[in-house]
Amino acid sequence: MHRRNTIQKEIVLQAVLFYKGHPTADDVYQVISLSHPTISKGTVYRNLNLLSEEGRIHKVLTFGNWPDHFDHTTMPHYHAVCENCGKIVDVDYTYQKEMEDQIRESDGFIITSHELVFHGLCPECQNKMHLLDADKE
Ligand code: ZN
Ligand code: MN
Repeated sequence: MHRRNTIQKEIVLQAVLFYKGHPTADDVYQVISLSHPTISKGTVYRNLNLLSEEGRIHKVLTFGNWPDHFDHTTMPHYHAVCENCGKIVDVDYTYQKEMEDQIRESDGFIITSHELVFHGLCPECQNKMHLLDADKE
């Protein structure tokens, strides 16, 4: 039983690594079910949460009505979420470590990490909207 659990967890981890982007639990399940059709959705979801608790993957907080997304990059970095299509991407902005030092000084709180998620409209959705606008004219 233990060995089976280990193998399942490894399959889920490999799927997240393979995916590259920021898959939802459902995306990961879809990928896995192609090669392991007997694995259940519950098993995939459970292992995703176990792996993020262990710090081997990262669960991205979206603070909205969007489902959880998972990230194979565990180094601290920031994300943007498109409010139209729900896509999550990495943003090219340096992790502000000094913010943590400053808060430690001002509030006496030892900061272990922080997250920033930008909300907005992705370039693809902006383009689609411009096309819709052009149609009206
Ligand atoms: Zn979008
Ligand atoms: Mn990321």
